[in-house]
Amino acid sequence: MEEIHIQFPDKASLTFPKGIPAGEALKVWGQGPLNGMVAARFEGELIDLPAKLMRDGELRPLSEKEPEALEILRHSSAHLMAQAVKELFPEVQIAIGPAIEQGFYYDFGKKEPFTPEDLPRIEERMASLSRQKIPMVREELPRQKAIDLFASQGESFKVALLQDLEDPMVSLYRQGNFTDLCRGPHLASTTQIRFFKLTQVAGAYWRGDERNPMLQRIYGTAFFEKKALEDHLHRLEEARRRDHRRLGKDLDLFSLHDEVGPGLVIYHPKGALLRTILEDFEKKEHLKRGYEIVIGPQLLRADLWKKSGHYENYRELMYFTEIDGQSYGIKPMNCLAHMIIYKSKIRSYRDLPKRYFELGTVHRHEKSGVLHGLMRVRQFTQDDAHIICTPDQLQDEIRGVLDFVAYVMKIFDFAFEVEISTRPEKSIGSDEDWERATQALSQALEANGLSFSISEGEGAFYGPKIDIKLKDALDRRWQCATIQCDFTLPERFDLHYIGPDGERHRPVMIHRVILGALERFLGVLIEHYAGAFPTWLAPVQAVVLSVTDRTLTYCRGVHQALIQAGIRADLDIRNEKLGLKVREAQLQKIPYMIVIGDKEEEQQRISPRTRTGENLGLWTLPQFIDRVREESLPGKPAEP
Ligand SMILES: [Zn+2]
Ligand SMILES: [Zn+2]
Repeated sequence: MEEIHIQFPDKASLTFPKGIPAGEALKVWGQGPLNGMVAARFEGELIDLPAKLMRDGELRPLSEKEPEALEILRHSSAHLMAQAVKELFPEVQIAIGPAIEQGFYYDFGKKEPFTPEDLPRIEERMASLSRQKIPMVREELPRQKAIDLFASQGESFKVALLQDLEDPMVSLYRQGNFTDLCRGPHLASTTQIRFFKLTQVAGAYWRGDERNPMLQRIYGTAFFEKKALEDHLHRLEEARRRDHRRLGKDLDLFSLHDEVGPGLVIYHPKGALLRTILEDFEKKEHLKRGYEIVIGPQLLRADLWKKSGHYENYRELMYFTEIDGQSYGIKPMNCLAHMIIYKSKIRSYRDLPKRYFELGTVHRHEKSGVLHGLMRVRQFTQDDAHIICTPDQLQDEIRGVLDFVAYVMKIFDFAFEVEISTRPEKSIGSDEDWERATQALSQALEANGLSFSISEGEGAFYGPKIDIKLKDALDRRWQCATIQCDFTLPERFDLHYIGPDGERHRPVMIHRVILGALERFLGVLIEHYAGAFPTWLAPVQAVVLSVTDRTLTYCRGVHQALIQAGIRADLDIRNEKLGLKVREAQLQKIPYMIVIGDKEEEQQRISPRTRTGENLGLWTLPQFIDRVREESLPGKPAEP
């Protein structure tokens, strides 16, 4: 019998018959069953425990503790759910069922949507299948055979997926009489799937394209431990409570309408005010750091987009229109006008760096399936800037942007994570430039003492980038800042500066945003603060509440005085009970309520209360104005 030599993490090397299952080899090495073993890694590649080892190599167990293990559990849970659904609803077709960040989903071809009442039934069936300890078995076969198999079962989505593949051999996973097309790896048995919950039903277009049939999606999640599942469900509940779409309606901040068009946001007065506060903050901070504010047009000739490479690399996401027989593109990015400003003069090395800042509104044709409240929209405004500098200045400029990001994240009380994204498949520019730019980004991060991870192939088409993901109050990650290095656009647009040697030189360009899309950032802020904005951000900072009609004149006077002092104040003099007015103001999450009755008028005082219910006693108006002004400085505490 042929033998193979297997290396283990402790450097032990053991000899086995060729074809031994990975799980068996690990048991021999560990001298017994390994606790919490989910899969294995052979020569760095994840494999199933029953996978047969056919050659020499290094083998290590993958335990429940490792992040890939959770992904395998969830992916396996998606299969289990599909099996349960097929048993309960034999007429449905299966489409795709991946693991995602928070759990998993599966898309089914089914005319009628699933109802929330279906979920407990499906969960019950999953639990019963789990108790039956059904092995999950991998099988490899020629692609055509797999097509025939799924065609015979009427699984047309699987057939379509297989027809798109080029591999001659494909893998299937079977558990009982359920078969799925899948690369794996999977758990060895359904018995390992114990702590799961189906969370939501939704519609989703096949391949995310609205021209395709609508599928019925079920979301779920799974964990290795009961406690982890419970914590997660608690967080989900909290996320529902904070959902920016719900709060956006309750607080009357913004709305989205089908008759207007998907992904197009309408800001109501309070939402527009909130955004204005954010924009004012940004303008001030940029001016402080030597940026110049510029404004470019929405439409630019298509020829210019061809020159920049956007037409070739970004066209699917752009909108085009025609004016006087000429083709124009609506800008998906703000870079081009900024370069034209730069080119409008001869620049000397002494003029550099130039930092052009624009609250630039852009349009991108995102697929309707990915649109989501304010988080993913088709028209949005970025706090965008382009820094044009000499190659020598590049690292300092990147460091300056990183300092800026850190400052702003502290103002909003966000922790953040950093990632460098390298060259994608579809890209322009020389290898040397990509290498140089990637170096500059990582060196700047190191110089600023920031740790980072690397995401291969995720860069923009014109250069590598630093992505910054903030962590919100629920420990969720949101993309905000990006810093991208670009050697290509300066080349294409023939940007130059006169160096100390009197010669023309090519500058480098940095594209960067700090908050990113303001729409998304506002969505994140709404959820982060659960709508209870700190005083400096609150669109309404105080509301004056009358107790009796006798004091209306005094109420109006106080309200006017607050407005004159620059405080964002409302007035509620409806003939309603004070209790009701206070409750409504609390639901609107207004930081301060100013109660005015006979006593307040007699003593020429006011009685402020906070939205958390604290009664501050009798104050003079200037005292209160001072306090709110103090709290109106960016970054002041969330609760007054
Ligand atoms: Zn799978
Ligand atoms: Zn740009």
